[in-house]
Amino acid sequence: MNEEKINMAEEVKPPVSFIEQIIIDDIEAGKNGGRIHTRFPPEPNGYLHIGHAKAICLDFGMAQKYGGKCNLRFDDTNPVKEDVEYIDSIKEDIKWLGFDWEDREYYASDYFGKLYDFAVDLIKRGLAYIDDQPADIISSQKGTPSQPGIESPYRNRSVSESLSLFERMNKGEFDEGSRVLRAKIDMTSPNMQMRDPIIYRIIKSAHHRTGEIWKVYPMYDFAHGQSDYFEGITHSLCTLEFEVHRPLYDWLVDQLKTNDYRPRQIEFNRLNLTYTMMSKRKLLELVQESKVSGWDDPRMPTLCGLRRRGYTPGSIRKFVDLIGYTKVEAINDVSLLEHAVREDLNICAPRVFAVLNPLKVIITNYPEGKTENVELINNPEDESMGKREIPFSREVFIEQDDFMENPPHKFFRLAPGMEVRLKGAYIVKCTGYKKDESGDIIEIYCNYDPTTKSGESGSERKVKGTLHWVSAPHAVDAEVRLYDRLFNHDDPAGQKDDDYRSFLNPGSLKILKHCKVEPSLVSASPLDKFQFQRLGYFCVDYDSTKEHLVFNRTVSLKDTWAKIHK
Ligand code: ATP
Ligand code: MG
Repeated sequence: MNEEKINMAEEVKPPVSFIEQIIIDDIEAGKNGGRIHTRFPPEPNGYLHIGHAKAICLDFGMAQKYGGKCNLRFDDTNPVKEDVEYIDSIKEDIKWLGFDWEDREYYASDYFGKLYDFAVDLIKRGLAYIDDQPADIISSQKGTPSQPGIESPYRNRSVSESLSLFERMNKGEFDEGSRVLRAKIDMTSPNMQMRDPIIYRIIKSAHHRTGEIWKVYPMYDFAHGQSDYFEGITHSLCTLEFEVHRPLYDWLVDQLKTNDYRPRQIEFNRLNLTYTMMSKRKLLELVQESKVSGWDDPRMPTLCGLRRRGYTPGSIRKFVDLIGYTKVEAINDVSLLEHAVREDLNICAPRVFAVLNPLKVIITNYPEGKTENVELINNPEDESMGKREIPFSREVFIEQDDFMENPPHKFFRLAPGMEVRLKGAYIVKCTGYKKDESGDIIEIYCNYDPTTKSGESGSERKVKGTLHWVSAPHAVDAEVRLYDRLFNHDDPAGQKDDDYRSFLNPGSLKILKHCKVEPSLVSASPLDKFQFQRLGYFCVDYDSTKEHLVFNRTVSLKDTWAKIHK
């Protein structure tokens, strides 16, 4: 991937996008009576991903901001690939993102009757014909952008013959692929889309909503603009690949419209993200080939995956707002998304103590059997989140890498003879340690200074390092899943000769089964979010139970307070 194409956070963004400017101008000009009506048109053939979030935030966001409406319209014109499972998940994800289509849940299939009638009308007006040639011949006759296409031998067949064939196609008299309905536009048009595009094809599978009624189904281009027209859409916002379809969109609506109103298609750049891919087909392959655990695997760029990973709807909306809408294709840096979620969780996630790789510390001068509570602030960013008490005792766990036998200069954690503060509790000094037969350190011995309890007189004594910890007898076992990028290439699906599968990151999931967390976490529910202090942001996984806690790492912390003394 060309580095220059990766959008960085510093990019200057205009105050309103070019699309918003068009909307403002249209309202000022009183176009469509000042009405703003958009739609979000997912095809129910997969789960929504973060790219769709960009479209959703625009479609619903503009309607919301300018007192308009946004319809949810399922583009269900291909009965073969579509499924009710996807419809349900799409609705759930849009709601989760914070948007509402109210009672306007529509389906392109609602319009199959009207679309069929419109096709018949086009045939009658000499603007459409049945072509008996197979698809490969039709496409070979299309020509190239610099070479005009060849007219089909069926182009000038009689209206009555096309009408009767179309009717028979829909009765199921012909095989799939044996005939199509084409719009009669211009085989010499410089725009390939206008060279007599196919508008109806035969499909003999049952449709999830209309069942066996139809044997012919409209192509996307034939259904989309017309559905916009039927619903009174004013601004039909879509991604840049549809720019070349716009003349066809307009041509078809022009044949249909009966007054001045016409929906306007406006295209913007897709969202692409580094180290992942946005194609639903390829994401489905990952699921089907078990390269991930499902559509909601926390490594997936799907909205349900991001949700399970611990992303908040606010962080996704913030990210989408940061990158903005332009006409320039680019790849956005995933670190900008991570930045957005860090900022959000910093404000809303309570701080807790969790030790991922535990090492036991025995405070030899602390009374055996004694437990005392120490008080900790839940979120220094938000006093209203209050304080909590956690137990402290003679034995605590710290992170293995917070101790070194032979530390380098400037190692401000624990080492023989060194002092650290156990956050919220006391200053302790390392007096010794024990190794097992293989030379691994298994226990640390410390003395504590009873005059240094946090929050009490004497607590001002400063030491350079502060560690998080969990009291050993009170600690709760937990499994923690650490996620890394799913791919080790910044544009895995964009490499000509390589399969994206060859870029799968073998280290994208690391499971730690023997973590220790503070007891307050026992009552946490799935999707609850926390900052594990000094480690990152984590959320409770759906697999978690009171008996077996499971956390997902959303994102690591940029800064740790290991080196900053408190
Ligand atoms: P496919 O992966 O099969 O090409 P799609 O991603 O285009 O499908 P649709 O369900 O047709 O999926 O998309 C619904 C809407 O979301 C469309 O308006 C589309 O333009 C928009 N959309 C899809 N992908 C992105 C993306 N990466 N960035 C912004 N908008 C997107
Ligand atoms: Mg699409």
